[in-house]
Amino acid sequence: MNTPLLINIVYLISSVLFIYGIKKLGSPKTARQGNFLSALGMFLAVVFTLFDKHIFSFEYILVGLLVGSAIGVVFAVKVEMTAMPQMVGLLNGFGGAASVLVGLAEYIKFDSLPGDISAKISITVGLAVFIGAVTFTGSLVAYLKLQGTISGNSVQYPMQHPLNALLILTAIACLVLLIWFPHDDVYLYVILGISLVLGVLLVIPIGGADMPVAISLLNSYSGLAGSATGFVLDNNMLIIAGALVGASGIILTNIMCKAMNRSLLNVVLGGFGATSSGPSAVAKRDVAVKSVDSEEAAMIFDSASSVIIVPGYGMAVAQAQHAVKDLMDILMKRGINVRFAIHPVAGRMPGHMNILLAESNIPYEYMLSLEEINEDFRNTDVSLVIGANDVVNPAARHDTTSPVYGMPILNVDYGKTTIIIKRSMAAGYAGIDNELFYLPNSLMYFGDAKEAVTKLNNALKAM
Ligand code: NDP
Repeated sequence: MNTPLLINIVYLISSVLFIYGIKKLGSPKTARQGNFLSALGMFLAVVFTLFDKHIFSFEYILVGLLVGSAIGVVFAVKVEMTAMPQMVGLLNGFGGAASVLVGLAEYIKFDSLPGDISAKISITVGLAVFIGAVTFTGSLVAYLKLQGTISGNSVQYPMQHPLNALLILTAIACLVLLIWFPHDDVYLYVILGISLVLGVLLVIPIGGADMPVAISLLNSYSGLAGSATGFVLDNNMLIIAGALVGASGIILTNIMCKAMNRSLLNVVLGGFGATSSGPSAVAKRDVAVKSVDSEEAAMIFDSASSVIIVPGYGMAVAQAQHAVKDLMDILMKRGINVRFAIHPVAGRMPGHMNILLAESNIPYEYMLSLEEINEDFRNTDVSLVIGANDVVNPAARHDTTSPVYGMPILNVDYGKTTIIIKRSMAAGYAGIDNELFYLPNSLMYFGDAKEAVTKLNNALKAM
C-alpha cells in the first residue's frame, strides 16, 4: 500500500475515533472512555502525519514535542480546577497562534516558488491567519480577564461596532487583493495586524459574567482556524479535526447562550454583557439576614424528608465535595431523599460541578439538570446552597437592570427552607448582591464550605 493512501486510511480511523469519542463525552458515565478514544485518535493522527513526505526535520519536531509536552504536563498537574477556564482559553489561543504560524510559513514557501499562488492558497492562508490571530489575541485577553490580571469588567469604547465592522471589511478587502496579487505579501501582513487588534477589541467589551460564552466561542474559532490551515496544508485530518472543534465549540456556545439567556448574534457582534458590574457595585441592603450554626442547621435537616443540594463555585474552591458526599450518605441513612441540582454555568466551566461530585463518587443519577429539577423545589423541605450565588439569584427573573437578568436560575427560593453556606455576604462572579439571602425562608450558614459541611455532618451524627 502506498504511504499517502495508508496515511489517509489512518486519518479516517482517527476521525471516526474523534466522532465516537465526542459522542461518548456527551454523558458523564462514558466521558473517560470518550476522552481516551479521542486521545487515541489524536495519537494515531500525529504518528502517521510524521510519515508524511513533507517532513524535513525530525530533530526539530522531537525537540518541539519534548518541550511542548513538558510544559503541558506541568500545566496539567499544577492548574487548579477552578482555573480551568483560563487554561482552556490559553490553549485556544495557542491553537490560533499555531494556525497563524503555519499559514505564514506556507505563504512564504509558496511565495518563494516560481509561478502563481493559487486562489485556494491565498484564501485559505488569509482565513487561517485572520481567524487564528483573532483567536490568539482574543483568548489572551479572555485569559487575563479570568486570571484577574486585568479587570473582568466590560470595557466599552466609542464607535465600538462601526470600528469593528470597518476592521473586518478592511481585512476582507485585503483578502480579495491577496487573491488578485498573491505575491504582494503586504496584504497578508495587514490582515495579520488587523486581526490581532480585532481579537482584543472583540473581547474587552465582554463583561465577566459572560466570559464562559466567549471562551467557548473562541474555542470554536480556534477549530475553524485549524480547519483553514488544513486546507492550506492539504491535510484531511486537520480539516476534519478543525471542523469538529469548530462545530462542537459552536454547539457548546449555543447551549451556554441558552443557559445564560444570551443570543448568539449578540455574542458574535461582541459588546454583550455590558451591564456586568464589578464587585464594587454590590449594594448591601439594610435588611438583616437570619443565620444559623451547624447544630441549628442539623436540626432543620433532622425534620426534613427531601433535600436538594445546589453546589456552586465556593464548593469547588473549598474542595468540599467529599464532605458533601458524607452529608449525602448521612441524610440518606436517615431516609431523606437527597438530590443535586446542577446549573449549566455553576462554577467556572461547563460540567464543573458534575466532575467534582463524580470525583467523590456521587452517582450521576443523583445529579439533575436545571430543567429536570427546577419544578421540584416547591415540594422540597430543605434546599442547601453550597458556595453558589449568581445561579440562584432571583433578580435574574425580574430585575431588568441586573447583569444576570434573563439567565435561568435554580428556583431555590420557591422551596420551604433554604440554607446557604458561604463565608460572608460577598458577591459571586457577576459582582452583585443576591436578594435570596434576605428572603424570610432563607438562612445563612456562614463558613468555608468544607468546614461548614463537616461541622454539619458531625452535628447530624451526634443527634
Ligand atoms: P458565584 O461565583 O456566583 O458565587 C460563588 C460564591 O462562593 C461566592 O459568593 C463566595 O461567597 C462563595 N465562596 C467562595 N469561596 C468559598 C468557600 N471557600 N467556601 C464557601 N463559599 C465560598 O458562583 P456560582 O457557581 O453560583 O455561579 C457561577 C458564576 O460564574 C456565574 O456568574 C457564571 O456566569 C460564571 N462563570 C461560569 C463559568 C462556567 O462555565 N460555569 C465560567 C466562568 C464564569 P463568599 O466569598 O462569601 O464565601
